[in-house]
Amino acid sequence: MRILIVSDIHSNIVALDAVLEAAREEDSVDEVWCLGDIVGYGPAPMECLERLWELGTLCIQGNHDAAATGEIDFSDFNPIAAEAARWTQQQLSKEARAYLAGLPQTTIESSFTLVHGSPRDPLWEYVTGYPQAIESWERVETSDVLVGHSHFQFSCEADRGLEQPSADGLIVPLGTARVVINPGSVGQPRDRDPRAAYAIYDDEARHIGLYRTWYNINSTQRAMSEVGLPEPLISRLSAGR
Ligand code: ZN
Repeated sequence: MRILIVSDIHSNIVALDAVLEAAREEDSVDEVWCLGDIVGYGPAPMECLERLWELGTLCIQGNHDAAATGEIDFSDFNPIAAEAARWTQQQLSKEARAYLAGLPQTTIESSFTLVHGSPRDPLWEYVTGYPQAIESWERVETSDVLVGHSHFQFSCEADRGLEQPSADGLIVPLGTARVVINPGSVGQPRDRDPRAAYAIYDDEARHIGLYRTWYNINSTQRAMSEVGLPEPLISRLSAGR
């Protein structure tokens, strides 16, 4: 099976569709897993949710998903993120709000624990280095952990430490050392590469590939201007930070 792993889509439907197309270019995709933050920041929350529903995606909840349902207070957000979260709330259907509110904060699939932030603090903690990776392994029963939240694409292998993919991607073998993997952000990358990020898990080859693909950034930025989302959120997409 080929499983597409995405995270931090952030209401960017153009980026999500580009990732789906790129992932299917080589071969079909059998399942999609999403590590949270489907909504928030971008212009198309309902379109992104509908696309994930069509695909029967396995999703966990991110902090922006929780904020959009009113489950958590905006005081935990910076003013710009809070403004986008307020706008997002108004766009969601009743069904969408119930769906986001009902998402689990963590789940287990094959050899992976899936979580948005970290196993210790599923909504908020960033895993950005080896020390948090070690803590993550200590707190889960699976050998491997999939995280999102930081919008940085990386692999962290026990023994080897943190590794960021080259421009052409990175293949991470599974089953030898334990790994923590972040597939990167689909809709708002922050690792200075503006391309949409994603991962493919091949359960026969037992590896995860980390990849990037271009999408029409201008088109997302235009849609954000049209609905009046804050300018810093628009301009950062071009820089990937
Ligand atoms: Zn996010």
